Amino acid sequence: MPSDAYNWIEQSLATIHKADWYRTVQTIQGHTGAMVQMNGRSLINFASNDYLGLSSDDRLIQAAITATQKYGTGSTGSRLLSGHRELHRELEYAIASLKQTEDALVFSSGYLANLGTVSAIVGQRDLILSDQCNHSSLKNGAILSGATVIEYPHCDLVSLQTHLEQQRDCYRRCLIVTDSVFSMDGDLCPLSGLLDLADYYNCMLLVDEAHATGVLGKCGAGCVEHFDCSQRQLIQVGTLSKALGSLGGYVAGTKTLIDFLRNRAPSWIYTTALSPADTAAALTAIQIIQQEPERRQQLWRNIDNFKLLIHQLSHLKLLPSDSAILCLLLPTAADALIAARHLQDAGIFAPAIRPPTVPTSRIRISLMATHTVAQIEQLVDVLSAIKIVSTTSSKSVRGDR
Ligand code: PMP
Repeated sequence: MPSDAYNWIEQSLATIHKADWYRTVQTIQGHTGAMVQMNGRSLINFASNDYLGLSSDDRLIQAAITATQKYGTGSTGSRLLSGHRELHRELEYAIASLKQTEDALVFSSGYLANLGTVSAIVGQRDLILSDQCNHSSLKNGAILSGATVIEYPHCDLVSLQTHLEQQRDCYRRCLIVTDSVFSMDGDLCPLSGLLDLADYYNCMLLVDEAHATGVLGKCGAGCVEHFDCSQRQLIQVGTLSKALGSLGGYVAGTKTLIDFLRNRAPSWIYTTALSPADTAAALTAIQIIQQEPERRQQLWRNIDNFKLLIHQLSHLKLLPSDSAILCLLLPTAADALIAARHLQDAGIFAPAIRPPTVPTSRIRISLMATHTVAQIEQLVDVLSAIKIVSTTSSKSVRGDR
């Protein structure tokens, strides 16, 4: 008799469908940039984290090819066994130099960097205070650590301080964790205030610079540079997969911290080292970020231009943002799906983000340095045709084109 032990999976999927939370993948053909090819159509791409357009830059591609020819495709082992190459260390020095830290450590993804770092630096006798809108990798790193986790309301320093006042002394170590640019909202953490609280209550602060590196700061070092906090004591993590156009993650901090993580972070110790191609591409991207500030300047011109245009459409609610991520709130998950389909029919790729990823549904727009003024105007033109229609039972959205 067949077991029914797995039947719950189908039932669970049915529940996901019913709530309009079902996720599907969209296949993209060929290179991606400001335009993408999907289902044989060319769409303007507002769904990419490739903020500076580096993932298809010839110099990154050439660096990846050269490294592959020199070292092979895979790195064939973990860093501590047989996977370490001089290229990894070169990249770590480049990250440390960009971030103005003593050292850095490269992981195979940003997710693994967060899991490994958070779970290595706190444990069962410790406390984590985590912004409620933090990325999944920080939340899961916190769970993995075994520490007591308290989520404080988004960017709420008063609430954070209340928790610290009441709880700090009950624990051995305390870690405050936050995204610097919040990935599904686009706003920034109150970094100086967080650092002040961390100092006052003798806590560590870990900041995830995934969406800030290459985008914020005079040299593109991220939010820490943007707020002029590079000289203050904190732990920075991030990814090589967004503005750096490659794959992988990193931690940047003191030599002691990096040395400790090399000995204690399981997601670094027990996994295969980053591939030579990804490592070389990221290294080239950091050089470009440092040598070509005009890319970042162009990205910010595009962001400012989009905001200016969208604020003229009073029926659409744009979440406050200080980054390349701009989100339009919609009443329900179904509304967000309809709006995304409407955009796609009009030649624009911008995804609907729904619960459980976020509490309220939205269209998430990512701007790139390589978008043209005409492409941004076309986006705003299509968005202007979205009507939000309230009915007695529910609200719905329809496109007028
Ligand atoms: N942190 C944040 C804030 C992110 O948005 C992401 C990626 N979505 C990650 C970490 C994980 O980075 P990676 O894609 O390199 O695993």
